[in-house]
Amino acid sequence: MFQRCILCATLLAGCYDGRAYPDIEVNTSIFKVLHQDQLTLLAADRFETANGSSVAIVTNPPKVYWVDTTCPYLDDAPTAVVIEGRCYFGLMYDCGEIYVAVKTTLSDSALVHELMHCFLMRAGITADAAHNNIIAWQLVHAINDEANERGW
Ligand SMILES: [Zn+2]
Repeated sequence: MFQRCILCATLLAGCYDGRAYPDIEVNTSIFKVLHQDQLTLLAADRFETANGSSVAIVTNPPKVYWVDTTCPYLDDAPTAVVIEGRCYFGLMYDCGEIYVAVKTTLSDSALVHELMHCFLMRAGITADAAHNNIIAWQLVHAINDEANERGW
């Protein structure tokens, strides 16, 4: 019932109304969380260094939405992006929108994970919805470890 993340790259005509997922309850009072920009830039830098291609994070950043609803299907009710009867740590839509469940620390959240899907898309590799790109997902862990060491 709890999945790491969901990707959508399809866009139904007429479906886009401000947000790709208007049914997701976002906390609009959270514009950014502490160290979000630093972690985003760190992740982009590490990806670009590893892959030799720009992800245009400064000129074309995805919009990040923070979600602090709890998963109603689990007894311990973790914060989760809830959509269509499922709970996710995060969701990335076409590298334009990222939905992330608020966690105790930023490095525990799915922000870097969802950014990685975006980076992979922009690098022309594949968004890797199946999470088969072991190198990319190891890099996510390394970036989050580094962020954790920085107290993010
Ligand atoms: Zn994912």
